[in-house]
Amino acid sequence: MHAMKELIHSKVQAARAGVNGEVRVDDVFQKYSFPFEYVVLHDVSLESRGKFQMDTICLTQYFAVILESKNIGGSLSFKDNPLQLVRELDDGKMDAFESPEVQIERNKYLLSDWFRSIGVELPIYGVIVLSNPKTIVVNSPHKFPIIFPQTIPVFLRNIPRAKVYMDVHQMHNLAKEIVASHRSYIPYPMCKRWSIDPRDLLTGVLCEKCDKLVMVKRKNGWNCLNCGHVDRHAHEKAIREWFVLIGESINNRQCRYFLQLDSFQSASRILNSMGLVREGTSKSNTIYKWIWDEKS
Ligand SMILES: [Zn+2]
Repeated sequence: MHAMKELIHSKVQAARAGVNGEVRVDDVFQKYSFPFEYVVLHDVSLESRGKFQMDTICLTQYFAVILESKNIGGSLSFKDNPLQLVRELDDGKMDAFESPEVQIERNKYLLSDWFRSIGVELPIYGVIVLSNPKTIVVNSPHKFPIIFPQTIPVFLRNIPRAKVYMDVHQMHNLAKEIVASHRSYIPYPMCKRWSIDPRDLLTGVLCEKCDKLVMVKRKNGWNCLNCGHVDRHAHEKAIREWFVLIGESINNRQCRYFLQLDSFQSASRILNSMGLVREGTSKSNTIYKWIWDEKS
């Protein structure tokens, strides 16, 4: 059941995004100790006036913090009116994304609403966390701070702790209540959620031994050109990655592009072997869809 969720937490995202040295938010919480009690929850989906999903939420007796991770390379400019995130790459190519400020604002509003509905009073802060160490911020956001993961401990310590809103026991109960109310709702595809342009993703089949996207298909299966690992089923993970990261459907051309395959027949065999739903009237317009269910 966890095959899809594991992909989200695995190194796939970093590998596909071509990011080296990515520091994850949960690593930071595991490494540092804080001078106060806290609970950290990842991938929390709740529902109040609307469904909302938070990458990471940190609860303390004094405040809650929503940490919104973004993995966007290049130079970022946070624009104000309207709120928008514009990214420029080295080659001058520009893209626009929904501003993480809008996402945090919405999540703050919905979370405070959810807190109110269960009788909890707790100030909520928001922060944007950049997981790609090569990102350059040209114009900072105005409403929320933007930090790299290494700065999370300092950021949390600097939030005022003047008023105690609950005791430690109540804080853990609140965490339990959040977990109990969690609706496993993951807004696929994740590229949209993470503000990643799918065209920026590296293609190829990932070697699970060395995390390099350099597997080639041979008679005996997929062979890693880097470490020699052989895996007959490496393509299955790549196809699942497509559905988790990029789109609701895949066709033969997209499969060849994403898996770096030359042969129409090979791609066709792979797609037909994955238990996907086939739609279309001819070889040329066939598309394949993943069947999402509660478990995935
Ligand atoms: Zn390898």
